[in-house]
Amino acid sequence: MSAFWWRALVPPFFIALIALLLWGVSGPLPAAIFLALGFLARVILHLRRLAALDSWLDDPATRSVPEGSGVWGEVFVRLNRMVRQQRKEREQRIAALHDMEQATSALPEGVVILGDADRIEWCNPLAELHFGLDAKRDTGQQITYLARQPEFVQYLNMHHFSEPLILRGTRQEDLVLSVKLISYGDNKKLLISRDITHMERIETMRRDFVANVSHELRTPLTVVNGFVETLNDMPSLENDMARRALQLMAEQTYRMDHLVNDLLTLSRLENSFNTLQEDTVDVCGMLRSLQREGESLSGGRHNIRLELESDSSLCGNADELRSAFANLVTNAVRYTPPGGEIVMRWQELDGQPVFSVQDSGIGIAPQHIPRLTERFYRVDRSRSRETGGTGLGLAIVKHVVNRHQARLEVTSEEGRGSTFSIVFPDKRRCPLAQEQVA
Ligand code: ADP
Repeated sequence: MSAFWWRALVPPFFIALIALLLWGVSGPLPAAIFLALGFLARVILHLRRLAALDSWLDDPATRSVPEGSGVWGEVFVRLNRMVRQQRKEREQRIAALHDMEQATSALPEGVVILGDADRIEWCNPLAELHFGLDAKRDTGQQITYLARQPEFVQYLNMHHFSEPLILRGTRQEDLVLSVKLISYGDNKKLLISRDITHMERIETMRRDFVANVSHELRTPLTVVNGFVETLNDMPSLENDMARRALQLMAEQTYRMDHLVNDLLTLSRLENSFNTLQEDTVDVCGMLRSLQREGESLSGGRHNIRLELESDSSLCGNADELRSAFANLVTNAVRYTPPGGEIVMRWQELDGQPVFSVQDSGIGIAPQHIPRLTERFYRVDRSRSRETGGTGLGLAIVKHVVNRHQARLEVTSEEGRGSTFSIVFPDKRRCPLAQEQVA
């Protein structure tokens, strides 16, 4: 028998024993009265302990566990031990949570935990500042009620958050935030915001500087170019040295002119206030004209083919698309030795419009491919210069591609040739123009 039962049964056993002795000494009536009173006293004692337990259960957090003797004493001691242990664990958890809160508050980034239906579960002080939240007031509110920018709402509704969103003017006009969402657990999201106002300012200064310098260089360059051409055309110029020098000057000013034009194009594309002016672009017509331009640049040294497997038109900016397509065709001509083949292709792959230029040229080693769209990145500097390259062509292509939500794919094998493809999203296909073409 367990200790509990020993402790529980000993008092009734003694009451019964005394009642039995009383029976022997004074007869059955006093014995029965003693037995009844003894058990009544026990029942009252149990009820009092039960009442004490009940009243403790009303507020276990602040009251201390009742005390008792006998069987109740043991139960209360064990209960007390358990409560103490639980309080200790709770305090440890609260301390750990407090530590975490302090750590996340010290983060240089805003953090918001979003639960079901993007409701705010928790946020740190920096997030309060970034989105104008109040942790106490707004917990449980949908974040889109408080941060209402359409691009933010759209970003939140997307289900892939690989790229951060640049958000302007959330609270103050000049505040620029980089916002990133991370999905985790069961339908939860972590919203991380970073103040990039300063970086944006520096970036804008850099862009403005390049744009201004390029713009300022344009006029002197035009003047020098004009004079060089005039001098070059002078029939009285007999000195061979001078003629050769003028020819070199003409080449270099022409190169500088190209460089300035490419820099200005890049500045325009990078300008965040320059929104995409969309037209319906007749890609087939544009590619026929680019084929002719490619042939003129090649001067008959390459076989340039145009394969129009689709008659789709694109919704986009005609000038920007022309400049990107032309860059790829020009590169194919410049990096393909005479006698090589170049194929310009317009097709649909998996329902997506794709423009590609395939050449049988010098190709590119795999380690260079990820860096090709960086400004002034050249695999072979001398070849790029010899063929009149500025090192900015593919950077321009990348910007145009991004502005059209397309992607640039490059496959290449050294010595065998390259294929540059621009894959447009399905939504860029223009149904209206398609009917027109048909
Ligand atoms: P560049 O004016 O030097 O051609 P781009 O930005 O157009 O500058 O191209 C960057 C580099 O990528 C080039 O210098 C060249 O090394 C490489 N490249 C671009 N297109 C081709 C191609 N079709 N075949 C081989 N290399 C290429």
